[in-house]
Amino acid sequence: MKPQLLLLGGGHAHVQVLAELARQPIPGWQVRLITPYRRQIYSGMLPGWIAGHYRLDDCAIDLEALAKQAGVELLQTACTGLDADAKRLQCANGELGCFDRLSIDTGPVAALHSLPGAAEHGLPIRPIEGFVAAWPTLAARIAAARERFELALIGAGAAGVELAFAFQQRARLEGWPQLRVSLIGSSALPLDGLPAHARRSALMLMQQRGIRYLGTSRVARIDAQHVELQSGEQLDAQATLLLTGAAAPAWPRLSGLSTDEHGFIRVGPDLRSLSHPAISAAGDVAAYASPRPKSGVYAVRAGPVLAANLRALCEGRAPSDWTPQRRALYLISTGDRHAIASWGPVAVRGAWVWRWKNSIDHSFIQRYRPGAGLSQRMPSQ
Ligand SMILES: Cc1cc2nc3c(=O)[nH]c(=O)nc-3n(C[C@H](O)[C@H](O)[C@H](O)COP(=O)(O)OP(=O)(O)OC[C@H]3O[C@@H](n4cnc5c(N)ncnc54)[C@H](O)[C@@H]3O)c2cc1C
Repeated sequence: MKPQLLLLGGGHAHVQVLAELARQPIPGWQVRLITPYRRQIYSGMLPGWIAGHYRLDDCAIDLEALAKQAGVELLQTACTGLDADAKRLQCANGELGCFDRLSIDTGPVAALHSLPGAAEHGLPIRPIEGFVAAWPTLAARIAAARERFELALIGAGAAGVELAFAFQQRARLEGWPQLRVSLIGSSALPLDGLPAHARRSALMLMQQRGIRYLGTSRVARIDAQHVELQSGEQLDAQATLLLTGAAAPAWPRLSGLSTDEHGFIRVGPDLRSLSHPAISAAGDVAAYASPRPKSGVYAVRAGPVLAANLRALCEGRAPSDWTPQRRALYLISTGDRHAIASWGPVAVRGAWVWRWKNSIDHSFIQRYRPGAGLSQRMPSQ
Protein backbone atom coordinates (compact mmCIF):
# COMPACT_ATOMS: atom_id res chain seq x y z
CA MET A 1 0.00 0.00 0.00
CA LYS A 2 1.21 3.50 -0.86
CA PRO A 3 2.09 5.87 1.99
CA GLN A 4 -0.79 8.24 2.79
CA LEU A 5 -0.72 12.03 2.85
CA LEU A 6 -3.91 13.34 4.41
CA LEU A 7 -4.98 16.95 3.82
CA LEU A 8 -7.39 18.05 6.52
CA GLY A 9 -9.61 20.97 5.48
CA GLY A 10 -9.89 22.78 2.17
CA GLY A 11 -8.69 26.16 3.46
CA HIS A 12 -6.70 28.93 1.79
CA ALA A 13 -3.36 27.07 2.04
CA HIS A 14 -4.70 23.67 1.01
CA VAL A 15 -6.34 24.88 -2.20
CA GLN A 16 -2.82 25.88 -3.23
CA VAL A 17 -1.47 22.46 -2.23
CA LEU A 18 -4.18 20.87 -4.40
CA ALA A 19 -3.34 23.17 -7.31
CA GLU A 20 0.32 22.27 -6.97
CA LEU A 21 -0.56 18.54 -6.93
CA ALA A 22 -2.62 19.06 -10.08
CA ARG A 23 0.47 20.49 -11.74
CA GLN A 24 2.72 17.71 -10.45
CA PRO A 25 1.70 14.73 -8.32
CA ILE A 26 3.98 13.38 -5.58
CA PRO A 27 5.27 10.08 -6.97
CA GLY A 28 4.48 7.02 -4.86
CA TRP A 29 2.07 8.77 -2.46
CA GLN A 30 -1.69 8.52 -2.13
CA VAL A 31 -3.21 11.87 -1.19
CA ARG A 32 -6.66 12.30 0.33
CA LEU A 33 -8.61 15.42 1.32
CA ILE A 34 -11.01 15.42 4.26
CA THR A 35 -13.50 18.26 4.09
CA PRO A 36 -17.01 18.72 5.48
CA TYR A 37 -18.09 20.61 2.34
CA ARG A 38 -17.42 19.99 -1.33
CA ARG A 39 -16.76 23.68 -1.94
CA GLN A 40 -14.83 26.41 -0.17
CA ILE A 41 -16.57 29.79 0.05
CA TYR A 42 -13.90 32.45 -0.18
CA SER A 43 -14.48 34.66 2.89
CA GLY A 44 -12.98 37.75 1.22
CA MET A 45 -15.91 37.78 -1.24
CA LEU A 46 -18.68 36.84 1.20
CA PRO A 47 -19.55 40.47 2.07
CA GLY A 48 -19.80 41.14 -1.69
CA TRP A 49 -22.33 38.30 -1.94
CA ILE A 50 -24.45 39.85 0.81
CA ALA A 51 -24.11 43.29 -0.83
CA GLY A 52 -25.43 41.81 -4.08
CA HIS A 53 -22.20 42.18 -6.06
CA TYR A 54 -21.60 38.47 -6.58
CA ARG A 55 -23.52 35.22 -6.98
CA LEU A 56 -22.51 32.58 -4.46
CA ASP A 57 -20.89 30.55 -7.24
CA ASP A 58 -18.62 33.51 -7.97
CA CYS A 59 -17.24 33.20 -4.41
CA ALA A 60 -16.84 29.41 -4.31
CA ILE A 61 -13.91 27.13 -5.05
CA ASP A 62 -15.08 23.72 -6.20
CA LEU A 63 -12.98 21.45 -3.98
CA GLU A 64 -14.34 18.33 -5.62
CA ALA A 65 -13.23 19.43 -9.09
CA LEU A 66 -9.90 20.68 -7.78
CA ALA A 67 -9.23 17.41 -5.93
CA LYS A 68 -10.15 15.43 -9.04
CA GLN A 69 -7.75 17.48 -11.13
CA ALA A 70 -5.05 16.78 -8.53
CA GLY A 71 -5.73 13.05 -8.44
CA VAL A 72 -6.73 13.43 -4.78
CA GLU A 73 -9.57 11.44 -3.24
CA LEU A 74 -12.10 13.67 -1.46
CA LEU A 75 -13.76 12.31 1.68
CA GLN A 76 -16.69 14.45 2.73
CA THR A 77 -16.59 14.47 6.50
CA ALA A 78 -15.01 16.46 9.33
CA CYS A 79 -12.26 15.47 11.70
CA THR A 80 -13.56 15.22 15.25
CA GLY A 81 -10.45 13.83 16.94
CA LEU A 82 -6.79 13.14 16.33
CA ASP A 83 -4.33 10.80 18.00
CA ALA A 84 -1.07 12.42 16.94
CA ASP A 85 1.14 9.62 18.33
CA ALA A 86 -0.85 6.82 16.67
CA LYS A 87 -1.22 8.88 13.44
CA ARG A 88 -4.95 8.29 13.44
CA LEU A 89 -7.94 10.56 12.85
CA GLN A 90 -11.49 10.16 14.07
CA CYS A 91 -14.08 11.51 11.66
CA ALA A 92 -17.68 12.68 12.09
CA ASN A 93 -18.94 9.84 9.85
CA GLY A 94 -17.49 7.31 12.31
CA GLU A 95 -14.53 6.40 10.12
CA LEU A 96 -10.97 6.29 11.33
CA GLY A 97 -8.32 7.67 9.02
CA CYS A 98 -4.69 6.58 9.23
CA PHE A 99 -1.86 8.60 7.72
CA ASP A 100 1.87 8.67 7.26
CA ARG A 101 1.86 12.43 6.90
CA LEU A 102 -0.90 14.88 7.84
CA SER A 103 -1.41 18.51 6.87
CA ILE A 104 -3.99 20.59 8.74
CA ASP A 105 -5.67 23.73 7.35
CA THR A 106 -9.05 23.68 9.06
CA GLY A 107 -9.30 27.35 9.99
CA PRO A 108 -10.81 28.76 13.16
CA VAL A 109 -14.17 28.11 14.81
CA ALA A 110 -16.64 30.62 16.21
CA ALA A 111 -15.92 31.62 19.81
CA LEU A 112 -19.37 30.65 21.12
CA HIS A 113 -18.64 29.62 24.67
CA SER A 114 -17.06 32.83 25.91
CA LEU A 115 -20.30 34.79 25.49
CA PRO A 116 -23.41 33.77 27.47
CA GLY A 117 -26.36 33.16 25.17
CA ALA A 118 -24.23 33.07 22.00
CA ALA A 119 -24.59 29.34 21.34
CA GLU A 120 -28.40 29.48 21.74
CA HIS A 121 -29.25 32.82 20.17
CA GLY A 122 -26.35 33.97 17.98
CA LEU A 123 -25.77 33.28 14.31
CA PRO A 124 -22.04 32.56 13.89
CA ILE A 125 -20.30 33.47 10.63
CA ARG A 126 -18.41 30.16 10.87
CA PRO A 127 -18.80 27.66 9.47
CA ILE A 128 -19.45 29.95 6.51
CA GLU A 129 -21.68 27.29 4.94
CA GLY A 130 -23.87 27.44 8.07
CA PHE A 131 -24.23 31.20 7.71
CA VAL A 132 -24.94 30.89 3.98
CA ALA A 133 -27.66 28.31 4.71
CA ALA A 134 -29.20 30.54 7.40
CA TRP A 135 -29.23 33.73 5.29
CA PRO A 136 -32.49 33.11 3.30
CA THR A 137 -34.45 32.70 6.55
CA LEU A 138 -32.89 35.81 8.05
CA ALA A 139 -33.53 37.78 4.84
CA ALA A 140 -37.17 36.61 4.84
CA ARG A 141 -37.57 37.71 8.48
CA ILE A 142 -36.14 41.13 7.66
CA ALA A 143 -38.34 41.48 4.58
CA ALA A 144 -41.47 40.49 6.55
CA ALA A 145 -40.80 42.84 9.49
CA ARG A 146 -43.46 45.54 9.77
CA GLU A 147 -41.54 47.45 12.40
CA ARG A 148 -37.86 48.17 12.78
CA PHE A 149 -35.66 45.06 12.49
CA GLU A 150 -32.52 45.44 14.54
CA LEU A 151 -29.57 43.41 13.29
CA ALA A 152 -26.60 43.41 15.66
CA LEU A 153 -23.13 42.37 14.54
CA ILE A 154 -20.70 41.57 17.35
CA GLY A 155 -17.03 42.00 16.42
CA ALA A 156 -15.66 45.05 14.63
CA GLY A 157 -12.67 43.56 12.82
CA ALA A 158 -12.42 43.45 9.02
CA ALA A 159 -15.19 40.85 8.70
CA GLY A 160 -17.61 42.74 10.97
CA VAL A 161 -17.02 46.08 9.27
CA GLU A 162 -17.34 44.66 5.75
CA LEU A 163 -20.51 42.80 6.64
CA ALA A 164 -22.09 45.82 8.36
CA PHE A 165 -21.61 47.81 5.15
CA ALA A 166 -22.79 44.85 3.07
CA PHE A 167 -26.05 44.41 5.02
CA GLN A 168 -26.72 48.12 4.80
CA GLN A 169 -26.11 48.01 1.03
CA ARG A 170 -28.43 45.00 0.74
CA ALA A 171 -31.13 46.92 2.62
CA ARG A 172 -30.80 49.70 0.05
CA LEU A 173 -31.01 47.22 -2.82
CA GLU A 174 -33.99 45.31 -1.45
CA GLY A 175 -35.85 48.36 -0.11
CA TRP A 176 -35.66 47.39 3.58
CA PRO A 177 -35.92 50.75 5.39
CA GLN A 178 -36.93 48.77 8.50
CA LEU A 179 -33.45 47.24 8.83
CA ARG A 180 -31.06 48.92 11.23
CA VAL A 181 -27.53 47.53 11.41
CA SER A 182 -25.53 47.96 14.62
CA LEU A 183 -21.88 46.97 14.87
CA ILE A 184 -20.51 46.33 18.34
CA GLY A 185 -16.75 46.45 18.92
CA SER A 186 -14.54 46.71 21.96
CA SER A 187 -12.80 50.03 21.34
CA ALA A 188 -13.79 53.55 20.40
CA LEU A 189 -13.01 52.91 16.73
CA PRO A 190 -13.61 49.80 14.60
CA LEU A 191 -10.80 47.86 12.83
CA ASP A 192 -8.40 47.44 15.72
CA GLY A 193 -4.80 47.22 14.47
CA LEU A 194 -5.33 49.36 11.38
CA PRO A 195 -4.05 52.96 11.13
CA ALA A 196 -6.13 55.52 13.03
CA HIS A 197 -7.20 57.41 9.91
CA ALA A 198 -8.49 54.20 8.27
CA ARG A 199 -10.44 53.45 11.44
CA ARG A 200 -11.84 56.98 11.63
CA SER A 201 -12.73 56.88 7.95
CA ALA A 202 -14.65 53.59 8.46
CA LEU A 203 -16.50 55.06 11.45
CA MET A 204 -17.40 58.23 9.56
CA LEU A 205 -18.74 56.21 6.64
CA MET A 206 -20.84 54.10 8.99
CA GLN A 207 -22.33 57.20 10.54
CA GLN A 208 -23.12 58.59 7.07
CA ARG A 209 -24.87 55.35 6.12
CA GLY A 210 -26.92 55.07 9.31
CA ILE A 211 -24.95 52.12 10.70
CA ARG A 212 -24.74 52.40 14.47
CA TYR A 213 -21.33 51.72 15.99
CA LEU A 214 -20.94 50.92 19.69
CA GLY A 215 -17.43 50.49 21.04
CA THR A 216 -17.40 51.70 24.61
CA SER A 217 -18.57 48.55 26.36
CA ARG A 218 -18.14 44.86 25.62
CA VAL A 219 -21.08 42.54 25.17
CA ALA A 220 -22.07 40.71 28.38
CA ARG A 221 -24.75 38.35 27.02
CA ILE A 222 -27.30 37.95 24.29
CA ASP A 223 -30.82 36.56 24.16
CA ALA A 224 -33.36 36.09 21.37
CA GLN A 225 -34.32 39.77 21.32
CA HIS A 226 -31.45 41.68 22.94
CA VAL A 227 -27.76 42.28 23.29
CA GLU A 228 -26.73 43.31 26.79
CA LEU A 229 -23.52 45.28 27.26
CA GLN A 230 -21.24 45.09 30.30
CA SER A 231 -22.21 48.71 31.01
CA GLY A 232 -25.75 47.46 31.65
CA GLU A 233 -27.12 49.02 28.45
CA GLN A 234 -29.53 46.75 26.61
CA LEU A 235 -29.99 46.94 22.83
CA ASP A 236 -32.86 45.48 20.87
CA ALA A 237 -31.62 42.84 18.45
CA GLN A 238 -34.00 40.60 16.51
CA ALA A 239 -30.93 38.83 15.12
CA THR A 240 -27.33 38.79 16.32
CA LEU A 241 -24.45 37.83 14.10
CA LEU A 242 -21.25 36.66 15.77
CA LEU A 243 -17.95 37.83 14.28
CA THR A 244 -15.90 37.74 17.43
CA GLY A 245 -12.58 36.57 16.07
CA ALA A 246 -10.98 33.23 15.61
CA ALA A 247 -11.07 30.50 18.26
CA ALA A 248 -9.25 27.17 18.05
CA PRO A 249 -11.22 23.96 17.60
CA ALA A 250 -11.13 21.67 20.66
CA TRP A 251 -9.61 18.55 19.05
CA PRO A 252 -5.99 19.75 18.51
CA ARG A 253 -5.61 20.45 22.24
CA LEU A 254 -6.73 16.89 23.02
CA SER A 255 -4.63 15.26 20.29
CA GLY A 256 -1.21 15.23 21.92
CA LEU A 257 0.00 17.98 19.58
CA SER A 258 1.81 20.92 21.07
CA THR A 259 -0.62 23.85 21.11
CA ASP A 260 -0.39 27.45 22.32
CA GLU A 261 -2.37 28.83 25.25
CA HIS A 262 -5.41 29.32 22.98
CA GLY A 263 -5.31 25.79 21.53
CA PHE A 264 -3.76 26.60 18.13
CA ILE A 265 -1.20 24.12 16.76
CA ARG A 266 2.38 25.26 17.37
CA VAL A 267 4.50 24.92 14.25
CA GLY A 268 8.10 25.73 13.42
CA PRO A 269 9.22 27.93 10.51
CA ASP A 270 8.87 24.94 8.14
CA LEU A 271 5.19 24.58 9.23
CA ARG A 272 5.76 21.21 10.93
CA SER A 273 4.27 20.62 14.35
CA LEU A 274 6.81 21.32 17.10
CA SER A 275 5.88 18.03 18.78
CA HIS A 276 5.01 15.75 15.84
CA PRO A 277 7.10 16.34 12.70
CA ALA A 278 4.87 14.08 10.56
CA ILE A 279 2.12 16.67 11.01
CA SER A 280 2.09 20.14 9.42
CA ALA A 281 -0.36 22.98 9.91
CA ALA A 282 -1.04 26.32 8.23
CA GLY A 283 -3.66 29.06 8.25
CA ASP A 284 -5.62 30.24 11.26
CA VAL A 285 -5.39 26.86 13.04
CA ALA A 286 -1.59 27.22 13.26
CA ALA A 287 0.42 29.19 15.81
CA TYR A 288 3.42 30.26 13.75
CA ALA A 289 6.97 30.51 15.07
CA SER A 290 6.74 34.25 14.23
CA PRO A 291 3.29 35.08 15.64
CA ARG A 292 0.96 36.91 13.25
CA PRO A 293 -2.70 37.98 13.45
CA LYS A 294 -5.26 35.36 12.39
CA SER A 295 -5.99 36.51 8.87
CA GLY A 296 -6.57 35.18 5.40
CA VAL A 297 -3.45 37.01 4.22
CA TYR A 298 -1.15 34.71 6.18
CA ALA A 299 -3.18 31.59 5.34
CA VAL A 300 -2.75 32.40 1.66
CA ARG A 301 0.94 33.23 1.95
CA ALA A 302 1.60 29.94 3.74
CA GLY A 303 0.12 27.97 0.82
CA PRO A 304 3.11 27.81 -1.56
CA VAL A 305 5.51 27.07 1.33
CA LEU A 306 3.27 24.30 2.63
CA ALA A 307 2.93 22.78 -0.86
CA ALA A 308 6.70 22.80 -1.43
CA ASN A 309 7.46 21.46 2.05
CA LEU A 310 4.93 18.62 1.87
CA ARG A 311 6.45 17.56 -1.44
CA ALA A 312 9.98 17.79 -0.03
CA LEU A 313 9.09 15.78 3.08
CA CYS A 314 7.29 13.08 1.07
CA GLU A 315 10.30 12.84 -1.22
CA GLY A 316 12.72 12.62 1.71
CA ARG A 317 14.19 16.09 1.24
CA ALA A 318 14.59 18.82 3.87
CA PRO A 319 11.76 21.38 4.08
CA SER A 320 12.42 25.13 3.84
CA ASP A 321 11.82 27.74 6.50
CA TRP A 322 9.32 30.57 6.09
CA THR A 323 8.94 33.86 7.90
CA PRO A 324 5.52 35.40 7.33
CA GLN A 325 5.67 38.99 6.13
CA ARG A 326 5.35 41.55 8.92
CA ARG A 327 2.74 43.68 7.25
CA ALA A 328 -0.37 42.60 5.45
CA LEU A 329 -2.42 44.52 2.91
CA TYR A 330 -6.02 44.83 4.05
CA LEU A 331 -8.68 45.68 1.50
CA ILE A 332 -11.97 46.37 3.24
CA SER A 333 -15.06 46.77 1.10
CA THR A 334 -17.58 49.38 2.20
CA GLY A 335 -20.67 47.99 0.46
CA ASP A 336 -20.99 50.52 -2.36
CA ARG A 337 -18.24 49.18 -4.63
CA HIS A 338 -15.74 51.30 -2.74
CA ALA A 339 -13.08 49.96 -0.38
CA ILE A 340 -10.45 51.04 2.11
CA ALA A 341 -6.87 49.83 1.57
CA SER A 342 -4.52 49.68 4.53
CA TRP A 343 -0.83 48.82 4.44
CA GLY A 344 1.18 49.57 7.57
CA PRO A 345 0.61 53.25 8.38
CA VAL A 346 -0.85 54.03 4.93
CA ALA A 347 -4.58 53.96 4.23
CA VAL A 348 -6.51 55.09 1.14
CA ARG A 349 -10.09 54.76 0.01
CA GLY A 350 -12.03 54.89 -3.23
CA ALA A 351 -13.85 53.10 -6.01
CA TRP A 352 -10.49 52.17 -7.55
CA VAL A 353 -9.56 50.32 -4.34
CA TRP A 354 -12.70 48.22 -4.67
CA ARG A 355 -11.94 47.52 -8.36
CA TRP A 356 -8.43 46.48 -7.33
CA LYS A 357 -9.79 44.15 -4.61
CA ASN A 358 -12.44 42.80 -6.97
CA SER A 359 -9.85 42.02 -9.62
CA ILE A 360 -7.43 40.21 -7.31
CA ASP A 361 -10.21 38.28 -5.57
CA HIS A 362 -11.61 37.19 -8.93
CA SER A 363 -8.24 36.08 -10.20
CA PHE A 364 -7.65 34.09 -6.99
CA ILE A 365 -10.93 32.23 -7.47
CA GLN A 366 -10.29 31.81 -11.20
CA ARG A 367 -7.02 30.00 -10.48
CA TYR A 368 -8.98 27.12 -9.03
CA ARG A 369 -11.68 26.85 -11.68
CA PRO A 370 -11.59 23.51 -13.52
CA GLY A 371 -9.20 23.77 -16.44
CA ALA A 372 -7.58 26.99 -15.17
CA GLY A 373 -3.88 27.47 -15.73
CA LEU A 374 -3.36 27.32 -11.93
CA SER A 375 -0.93 30.24 -12.03
CA GLN A 376 0.36 32.00 -8.90
CA ARG A 377 -1.35 35.25 -7.86
CA MET A 378 -2.08 36.47 -4.35
CA PRO A 379 -5.62 37.51 -3.36
CA SER A 380 -6.60 40.51 -1.25
CA GLN A 381 -6.40 38.39 1.88
C1 LIG B 1 -16.72 37.72 6.27
C2 LIG B 1 -15.24 37.57 6.44
C3 LIG B 1 -14.40 38.45 5.80
C4 LIG B 1 -13.01 38.34 5.96
N1 LIG B 1 -12.22 39.24 5.34
C5 LIG B 1 -10.89 39.12 5.48
C6 LIG B 1 -10.02 40.03 4.79
O1 LIG B 1 -10.47 40.95 4.10
N2 LIG B 1 -8.68 39.86 4.93
C7 LIG B 1 -8.17 38.85 5.69
O2 LIG B 1 -6.95 38.72 5.75
N3 LIG B 1 -8.95 38.00 6.36
C8 LIG B 1 -10.30 38.10 6.26
N4 LIG B 1 -11.10 37.22 6.93
C9 LIG B 1 -10.48 36.17 7.75
C10 LIG B 1 -10.20 34.96 6.88
O3 LIG B 1 -11.41 34.44 6.43
C11 LIG B 1 -9.51 33.85 7.67
O4 LIG B 1 -8.36 34.36 8.28
C12 LIG B 1 -9.15 32.71 6.72
O5 LIG B 1 -10.35 32.11 6.26
C13 LIG B 1 -8.29 31.65 7.36
O6 LIG B 1 -8.00 30.72 6.38
P1 LIG B 1 -7.77 29.19 6.75
O7 LIG B 1 -7.25 28.53 5.52
O8 LIG B 1 -6.97 29.09 7.98
O9 LIG B 1 -9.21 28.61 7.11
P2 LIG B 1 -10.58 28.58 6.32
O10 LIG B 1 -10.60 29.52 5.19
O11 LIG B 1 -11.63 28.73 7.38
O12 LIG B 1 -10.66 27.11 5.74
C14 LIG B 1 -10.76 26.01 6.58
C15 LIG B 1 -11.37 24.84 5.84
O13 LIG B 1 -11.33 23.69 6.70
C16 LIG B 1 -12.61 23.06 6.75
N5 LIG B 1 -12.75 22.47 8.09
C17 LIG B 1 -13.08 23.10 9.24
N6 LIG B 1 -13.10 22.23 10.25
C18 LIG B 1 -12.76 21.02 9.74
C19 LIG B 1 -12.62 19.72 10.29
N7 LIG B 1 -12.81 19.49 11.61
N8 LIG B 1 -12.27 18.70 9.47
C20 LIG B 1 -12.06 18.92 8.16
N9 LIG B 1 -12.18 20.14 7.58
C21 LIG B 1 -12.53 21.17 8.36
C22 LIG B 1 -13.59 24.19 6.49
O14 LIG B 1 -14.79 23.67 5.96
C23 LIG B 1 -12.82 25.02 5.47
O15 LIG B 1 -13.01 24.51 4.18
C24 LIG B 1 -12.48 37.32 6.80
C25 LIG B 1 -13.33 36.43 7.45
C26 LIG B 1 -14.70 36.54 7.26
C27 LIG B 1 -15.61 35.57 7.99
